[in-house]
Amino acid sequence: MQAPPSIAAVMALLRELNELEPKRAKNPGKNPSDRQKTLLRRIDAVRAQLPGPILSHHDRIRARGKSSVAAVKHWVCCNCFLQVPSGSRANLITLDDLPICEHCGSYLYLDTPPEAQN
Ligand SMILES: [Zn+2]
Repeated sequence: MQAPPSIAAVMALLRELNELEPKRAKNPGKNPSDRQKTLLRRIDAVRAQLPGPILSHHDRIRARGKSSVAAVKHWVCCNCFLQVPSGSRANLITLDDLPICEHCGSYLYLDTPPEAQN
């Protein structure tokens, strides 16, 4: 068994996956371009590193056409525009747990340093 990736590594992978997946052709046909092939290989590689439960949560959100990660600006989730409660803010810095928006379920990351959030 491989050691599970750290929370910071999971967040980096999730952010990359949310950037890559919208670029995937809906209907690549029988002969996908080299660019698409490279993209698909990278998507597979990223997905292979993510723990299963996180991946299924990501897929559920993506199925609704949304990004499964959201930047936090001024302690507001950029997906649902609701405030991150003060009790959850410390975790965004310490990353003891995977930060998740309790309103919309997105995985959260700080877009600017904590001192710039207020
Ligand atoms: Zn949210």
